[in-house]
Amino acid sequence: MDLGLQGKWALVCAASKGLGRGCAEALVGEGVNVVITARGAEVLEATALALRALNPAVEVRTVAGDITTPEGRAAALAACPQVDILINNAGGPPPGDFRSWDRDTWLKALDANMLTPIELIKATVDGMAGRGYGRVINITSGAVKAPIDILGLSNGARSGLTGFVAGLARSPKLAAHNVTLNGLLPGAFDTDRLRVTMQGAAAKSGSNFDEAWDRRRMAIPAQRFGTAQEFGAICAFLCSQQAGYLTGQNILLDGGAYPGTF
Ligand code: NAD
Repeated sequence: MDLGLQGKWALVCAASKGLGRGCAEALVGEGVNVVITARGAEVLEATALALRALNPAVEVRTVAGDITTPEGRAAALAACPQVDILINNAGGPPPGDFRSWDRDTWLKALDANMLTPIELIKATVDGMAGRGYGRVINITSGAVKAPIDILGLSNGARSGLTGFVAGLARSPKLAAHNVTLNGLLPGAFDTDRLRVTMQGAAAKSGSNFDEAWDRRRMAIPAQRFGTAQEFGAICAFLCSQQAGYLTGQNILLDGGAYPGTF
């Protein structure tokens, strides 16, 4: 299927590794020019080389910086001639007990996982509407649908973003101009983040990492973790011309882990 994305420009945030990189790879494969961002320049440049090798016909630009800061966002936006596709992503907040979180801890989580995507949406969607095409994908978490107790900062901040986007996506100023906004909710994906989180949990409980990894894997009906490539493929489809009637939705990718009917 031709997704009709040749020559578009995408800003893919936090894309040197993991799910963001998976999205960038899938978009580049469809002929989309990309601006990718991450905090560390070295891994980011290596990812850019791999993307250029994947499709030498597209332009791949890099912006090293923290996307959760005003400077990081300004630099990312300045590098993209026009944002047709915006993939919002950033590192997730740390786990913990809400009794130990002060106001600053909350503000940091809200900044990273709610206000940063909203700022980038604000900077880009009216231009998309003017051109008659736009796609915004927010990488959030399965925790938006099925909260995880120790991830209260993520549950809270990402639900705030999801509620805001639910309203915005239904605005005729955007929906009637072929601008869609959707959430992609990862369950467990085999990325650095999942490995680091599980290494920490295993060390804390004194258990063996490989055993903990297998237990977690077998608790998923698919009995495997998701891959960044399959995450990216669904992201690219949501950005396609064919997906123009799909907006304001939250798509869970979790190998069947969520137990509800809806
Ligand atoms: P990852 O650690 O594999 O990759 C994260 C990427 O984001 C890296 O390229 C890193 O450089 C970049 N990054 C992080 N913070 C940044 C910032 N402030 N500015 C710019 N770049 C930044 O992580 P991942 O597994 O791909 O996770 C992506 C998002 O999805 C995170 O918010 C994570 O919490 C969420 N998530 C992941 C899973 C999973 O199973 N992997 C599950 C649920 C939610």
